[in-house]
Amino acid sequence: MAALPVAARAVDAVKVYGTGLVEVRALDSVDLDLERGAFTAVMGPSGSGKSTLVHCLAGLDTLTSGRIELGGQDLSGLSETQLTVLRRDHVGFVFQSFNLIPTLDALENIRLPSDLAGRRLDPAWLDAVVDAVGLRDRLRHRPAELSGGQQQRVAIARSLVGRPDIVFADEPTGNLDSRSAGEILEFLRRAVDDFDQTVVMVTHDPGAAAHSDRVVFLADGRLADEMQAPTTERVLERLKRLGT
Ligand code: ADP
Repeated sequence: MAALPVAARAVDAVKVYGTGLVEVRALDSVDLDLERGAFTAVMGPSGSGKSTLVHCLAGLDTLTSGRIELGGQDLSGLSETQLTVLRRDHVGFVFQSFNLIPTLDALENIRLPSDLAGRRLDPAWLDAVVDAVGLRDRLRHRPAELSGGQQQRVAIARSLVGRPDIVFADEPTGNLDSRSAGEILEFLRRAVDDFDQTVVMVTHDPGAAAHSDRVVFLADGRLADEMQAPTTERVLERLKRLGT
């Protein structure tokens, strides 16, 4: 069987913060291929390098050595401006804290990155995304008038509407009650199954990781293990075995 195309790849990725006594190897020689059209969860104890890995994969931070490829393009050697354009056109990012603009309504927030980029949005695609996240009757509401779950759905719609090659979500359900978290996870799953998106999600929650196709486990900046077709029970058991 031919290998699935790779959406993002880390090759011997090393990230060192500080020098001398305060040196921290946040990533210690990570090799990872993220397949296109797959939902991958990244797990590991606090401080194991999860955020550093997704930030470097998304081109939001740079490696100390090694390389990151996004959509087949090597990020090393790109200027800040080239990285900004690459992120804008190819990457979506969802944060734990939603990061919406308080003075803009939901629709304006969803459209913002495309409007700033001067890119015409496909109206049919915008409609499909708005309906999929169930925000049709909330489009004129500002973030303060929306629940946490609704705000995160706006953030996810914003990340998807430009049809990025890959969406990174860093603890997207960390600030949500379990019902809203469930809706967000269902939606990320649908983005992969129905819209053919590639999603990479950092999470502490075995139940959240069970929505993914594959879990990669980090420990001390290294890939410690991985699991295909995870279930909550198997993830819990693996975390115990890894001593986290
Ligand atoms: P995780 O997301 O798994 O909690 P992080 O990627 O945030 O882990 O951090 C990995 C390691 O790198 C930790 O030891 C953390 O303290 C360190 N680290 C992260 N960001 C910085 C920074 N900007 N400066 C110094 N150390 C950092």
